[in-house]
Amino acid sequence: MSEAKVVVITGASSGIGKASAELLAKDGAKLVLGARRENILKEIADKIEKLGGQAAYKATDVTDDAQVEELAKLAIEKFGRIDVWINNAGIMPQSVLSEKKIQDWNNMIDINIKGTLYGIGAAIPYMDKQKSGHIINVSSVAGHVAHSGSAVYSATKYAVRAISESLRQEMVDAKNNVRVTVISPGAINTELLSSVTDPEVKAGMEKFYAAYSIPVERVALTIKQAIDLPADAAWNEVIIRPTSQL
Ligand code: NDP
Repeated sequence: MSEAKVVVITGASSGIGKASAELLAKDGAKLVLGARRENILKEIADKIEKLGGQAAYKATDVTDDAQVEELAKLAIEKFGRIDVWINNAGIMPQSVLSEKKIQDWNNMIDINIKGTLYGIGAAIPYMDKQKSGHIINVSSVAGHVAHSGSAVYSATKYAVRAISESLRQEMVDAKNNVRVTVISPGAINTELLSSVTDPEVKAGMEKFYAAYSIPVERVALTIKQAIDLPADAAWNEVIIRPTSQL
């Protein structure tokens, strides 16, 4: 049950992070929300509290390890523990390699890979002490297959899966009962396309998403179901994709 669990979510200001926060809060979880747009986090936290839930928030850029550590500290100060940490913040500015969009490459590496590592680094010491916890990392279908234009985005999402499997084995060795889950969504209707900087790629993706994407609540439900499994079992890998998506 996610009831009364303390759940930290990065990238909680929109899309999958926001929908997961709202769903888990309805189920009684205590939320700690991180993203850069603090005003939106406040609106989400206020809405959760108005409905009788509990939520704290902090402006957090996941490319800054110190800010991610502060988010973990906020969870401990407010709620005393961290049961679930969801590394969800991500961007997807895809383009072909020959365009050499180095800023986009660096941003994807910093947010999608390093942000995930910093989240793991911040949460594990607390989970180790508790002898329980759950790390959920958001990868992508693009972390299972690469195509023309997806090189760096796919590389970051493959990396998330590699990091997660190593982490899973390390947690088994540490005997700390920490579960590790990778959620790999297909086309989901969120603000993600706003991070695409190449106009041609963006136009193609908009067409694809208009035809195939499914509501964000589907992924939120998958995350909740992963959390709700009995603690002695874990979904280590889940692909959640529109039924109609190739
Ligand atoms: P959104 O664009 O709606 O949400 C992305 C979130 O990440 C926002 O809350 C944004 O908040 C946050 N974010 C971006 N950069 C940073 C940063 N530097 N520090 C902290 N937070 C940051 O997209 P989705 O909900 O779709 O994306 C969530 C995850 O799902 C991503 O990892 C994405 O790769 C993955 N995914 C999404 C798919 C889809 O089709 N939508 C498919 C496969 C995977 P803010 O700007 O306020 O910081």
